[in-house]
Amino acid sequence: MSERDHDHDMTYLAIRPECGHAIAASVDSPECRDDVAEEVASYVRRGFIVTRVTAQEAREADWCECPRKPAPPKAHQMALLDA
Ligand SMILES: [Zn+2]
Repeated sequence: MSERDHDHDMTYLAIRPECGHAIAASVDSPECRDDVAEEVASYVRRGFIVTRVTAQEAREADWCECPRKPAPPKAHQMALLDA
């Protein structure tokens, strides 16, 4: 397969709704469709927006470099419990 052909593979791109950046991608390969479905399902479970784009579009997407949010501080959870 040439590089050019590869650019036209379809890819599932996971977008973080918090910032709109790409966070993960999974090539839609017919040989491992079950694995791809499982991966896409995990994106949805984690709250990502999943879009289907070409491999080239996935490469050129705005990839997330935002700092990851740490786990909520315990003090905040305590405050919620008290409320
Ligand atoms: Zn981001």
